[in-house]
Amino acid sequence: MIGPRDHGELRDALRALCAGFPPEYHRRIDREAGYPEEFVAALTREGWLAALIPEEFGGAGLGLTEACVIMEEINRSGANAGFCHGQMYNMGTLLRHGSEAQKAHWLPRIASGEIRLQSMAVTEPGAGTDTTRIRTTARKQGDRWIVDGQKVWISRVQHSELMVLLARTTPLAEVERKSLGMTLFLVDLRDAVGSGLTVKPIENMVNHETNELFFDGLELPEDCVIGEIGQGFRHVLDGLNAERALIAAECIGDGRWFIDRGTAYAKEREVFGRPIGQNQGVAFPLAEAHVEIEAADLMTRKAAALFDAGEPCGAEANMAKYLAAKASWEAANACLQTHGGFGFAADYDVERKFRETRLYQVAPISTNLILSHVAEHVLGLPRSF
Ligand SMILES: Cc1cc2nc3c(=O)[nH]c(=O)nc-3n(C[C@H](O)[C@H](O)[C@H](O)COP(=O)(O)OP(=O)(O)OC[C@H]3O[C@@H](n4cnc5c(N)ncnc54)[C@H](O)[C@@H]3O)c2cc1C
Repeated sequence: MIGPRDHGELRDALRALCAGFPPEYHRRIDREAGYPEEFVAALTREGWLAALIPEEFGGAGLGLTEACVIMEEINRSGANAGFCHGQMYNMGTLLRHGSEAQKAHWLPRIASGEIRLQSMAVTEPGAGTDTTRIRTTARKQGDRWIVDGQKVWISRVQHSELMVLLARTTPLAEVERKSLGMTLFLVDLRDAVGSGLTVKPIENMVNHETNELFFDGLELPEDCVIGEIGQGFRHVLDGLNAERALIAAECIGDGRWFIDRGTAYAKEREVFGRPIGQNQGVAFPLAEAHVEIEAADLMTRKAAALFDAGEPCGAEANMAKYLAAKASWEAANACLQTHGGFGFAADYDVERKFRETRLYQVAPISTNLILSHVAEHVLGLPRSF
């Protein structure tokens, strides 16, 4: 069966864990601009954040389909996977492109929770979405790499021991294609922060730990290169389909949370002597949001199933992310409107989730860039950039 009732055992286990962290917990963390240490620790302890790590490295060896269910249930419980989802995405880079020595050293430590790989540093102020224009450089000096430059919006750096970094190793002017000449590095933040790397938090609309990073002669050991030198951009792209599907699943979790909350309130709140949900002006936006979330869920399942079968899934993963982010935002609006004034009260959690789900239209990839992928790669329209 496909839908919110499939993977019953998996969902029951996650729901039991999440039930230990009631709305008051997430509300307090949001108010204090804190980090849900206990919640993330519980997810790690029970192995959920190591779902995609193969069993030989101490993980659960599950597929993307199951990983999507995990992300969906986290958000559906009223929590925000943004505090910890980096571990799911970033680990894939190491798994796919890391050397045997890197995988043997790091993956079991990540799976056990001893080490967190929650951060990936790609975005730069001067380049934005055009990653080929990044200006952070890494140049070889003896047996070290020296990194200089700047990144922006890099999340969870203060709650991670490791970070994947994309830097230019061959100047743009010297490469055959602009997507070449960039390399991935695995940065041990415990050594780097304060020794060539400065972290400056960015206050933002969501309680999302994200930062500006300044690299000033940061020295990295030779063996921290992930994959092939000069192929870093391609290695990043390799991970995007899984990331898109996982993000879509988070949106679906949010959407279901909004619809549950909105529906319950619409049944219980009486105005003009009847439940507000009896008015079609209130009921239809909730019904429409439900329809759209269910459709987005189907596309997400399709993307994850293709991925798990080793089939191409770029179109489906992008379409799933587009549909799910849009549907969760529509559900957020319907839920907030249904709550009237109380939608704005922090105690109802709607305004917090409303802010959280809005982010998915921008990060980790903006809606326009998804449409651009579909236009160019699915419909064969002329390339625009
Ligand atoms: C809370 C948060 C956390 C983040 N975490 C991370 C992280 O951990 N690591 C990381 O590397 N990055 C992270 N990001 C960055 C995020 O991936 C980018 O913000 C996002 O990809 C958009 O890039 P930009 O902000 O530079 O927008 P810009 O590239 O400046 O674009 C601005 C707007 O113009 C549109 N646009 C630009 N070019 C085109 C075009 N050719 N056609 C149509 N529309 C276009 C975009 O879609 C966007 O809406 C985070 C961002 C936020 C807000």
